[in-house]
Amino acid sequence: YSGKEIESIFAQQLKSLKVADIKSVPIVVEEQTTVYDAIVTMFLENVGTIYVTSNGYFTGVVSRKDFLKSAIGGIDVNKIPVAVIMTRMPNIITVTSEESILDAATKIIEHEIDSVPVIEEVNEDDMKLYKVIGKISKTNIVRVFVDLCKNI
Ligand code: ADP
Repeated sequence: YSGKEIESIFAQQLKSLKVADIKSVPIVVEEQTTVYDAIVTMFLENVGTIYVTSNGYFTGVVSRKDFLKSAIGGIDVNKIPVAVIMTRMPNIITVTSEESILDAATKIIEHEIDSVPVIEEVNEDDMKLYKVIGKISKTNIVRVFVDLCKNI
């Protein structure tokens, strides 16, 4: 393959592959989980970002930096629920299953975040609620590049 051909294989794949094709399983805790327990979950599950739900519906994101901030702020990690320190909807950058991998990667770069939750809208009593059904992280995107190179 020539350089141009390889470039075009990459571009085509990034545009045609969908979020649904590469998403991973999200690690989720409920809002009342203590900051302490959420930190333990982050270590045990070996992730950098945890998604937060209320009665199963997606409400927020908590990352390493949020935990560091709360620790140096001196909060009681055994008492304070994760909901107090998380970034909350609607201020969350999200993707849907049908979006392309290029869309997801663009959002990650433009907003300087490590991952985007894959969400699905559900209508409950005319309220707009969301289920979190996956996660696209920088690792998922890098894996696509590695897999594409294996196939060239
Ligand atoms: P880290 O804290 O490991 O550097 P991020 O760069 O992803 O991870 O997170 C930085 C900040 O952005 C944190 O406050 C976090 O809550 C928030 N954040 C993480 N993911 C998202 C997202 N998809 N949309 C909006 N904010 C996010």
